Amino acid sequence: MEVNYIIVGQGLCGTFLSWQLTQQGKKVMVIDESKPGSATKLASGVINPVTGRRIVRTWEIETIMPFAVNAYIALGNELGVELIRQCNILDFHVTPQMRQAFEDRLRTEQAYLLIPENVANWGSCFTTTFGIGEINPCWLIDLNMMLERWRKKLQENNSLLNEHFDVEACEYLTDRVIYRDISAEKIFFCDGIGNIKNSLFNQLPYSPNKGEVIIVEIPGLPATNIYKQGISIVPWKEGLFWVGSTYNWQYDNLEPTSAFREKVEHQLSNWLKLPYKIVDHLVSERPANIERRPFVGIHPKYSTIGILNGMGTKGCSLAPYFAAELKEHLINGKELNPLADIQRFRNILLK
Ligand SMILES: Cc1cc2nc3c(=O)[nH]c(=O)nc-3n(C[C@H](O)[C@H](O)[C@H](O)COP(=O)(O)OP(=O)(O)OC[C@H]3O[C@@H](n4cnc5c(N)ncnc54)[C@H](O)[C@@H]3O)c2cc1C
Repeated sequence: MEVNYIIVGQGLCGTFLSWQLTQQGKKVMVIDESKPGSATKLASGVINPVTGRRIVRTWEIETIMPFAVNAYIALGNELGVELIRQCNILDFHVTPQMRQAFEDRLRTEQAYLLIPENVANWGSCFTTTFGIGEINPCWLIDLNMMLERWRKKLQENNSLLNEHFDVEACEYLTDRVIYRDISAEKIFFCDGIGNIKNSLFNQLPYSPNKGEVIIVEIPGLPATNIYKQGISIVPWKEGLFWVGSTYNWQYDNLEPTSAFREKVEHQLSNWLKLPYKIVDHLVSERPANIERRPFVGIHPKYSTIGILNGMGTKGCSLAPYFAAELKEHLINGKELNPLADIQRFRNILLK
């Protein structure tokens, strides 16, 4: 079978890259072994324009966030579902100092921060002793719906292989790649955390990050907002809430820990006034890297091999944008953002 591109992986990166390329009339074959604990399946799906204790804007957010919002709307329209909705973060201050820090920041960051009007209304759900700040706009994406619906579409078009891709079993020629009976102009690795073990790219400076999540039922809590106080409570699928997460850079297993469960229980007992029930405790890994910038583009040694990966903690906003950059690079020869282009690792990838 002849296709234009083989794409390994159907998480956020593989979904957006395959969608962008098929929109240009390209034929793709996506090879994805459907594993339950992938980063995209466990992510909360939040796009938050600011970050950290200092509440600073995330990298290129003024460009990347509106692009991503439009991309989810367009993909949702094609799939006949709503994939994205505005869902602002309510940031419950823990101390008077934290409230002060938010109010100080508000003086210079009026595009994304405000004091919500209805603070008293939240008193029946949460302890609101030190007030609430709002991050607005934030967006919530139904990632599991996106993965399922796009996968179905790929299957209908005979463009999906539901299996493990063996990197060593593929022939990488100068003008084509051949994998079993599939011949393609290029192959793209959108294999998430799997890329760390991929012999073609394992020199890249990955720094994987373990994230634990607790899934809870909270009857009576409106799914209108994301609630944050150290941990976040995020509306999740099937009427449940996602509570998390950890950002652990040093770990030797992917088991859930009792320490995190106890931390969540302690936090919820102090903050949440509504009864709740824990229904699951899940773990995944973020494909993060030490530069906190994506890995996008063509391998400096092999012109038929490319990558879209390294989205770290921000895949929801970065993946749609950089999939589109990569598509423009392939179809129209446009330059990639040099901070994302893997040519910056030319020296180590040429070794
Ligand atoms: C707990 C947690 C919470 C998060 N919350 C957010 C959030 O709110 N907002 C945000 O922007 N980001 C969030 N992230 C980060 C986000 O999930 C990632 O940046 C993003 O999902 C990475 O997407 P990906 O496509 O690169 O990788 P993945 O989602 O891991 O997809 C890779 C796919 O490739 C497949 N694959 C790998 N190797 C092979 C192979 N050899 N053969 C076949 N298939 C293969 C895997 O099975 C998988 O389906 C979170 C991550 C975690 C872990």
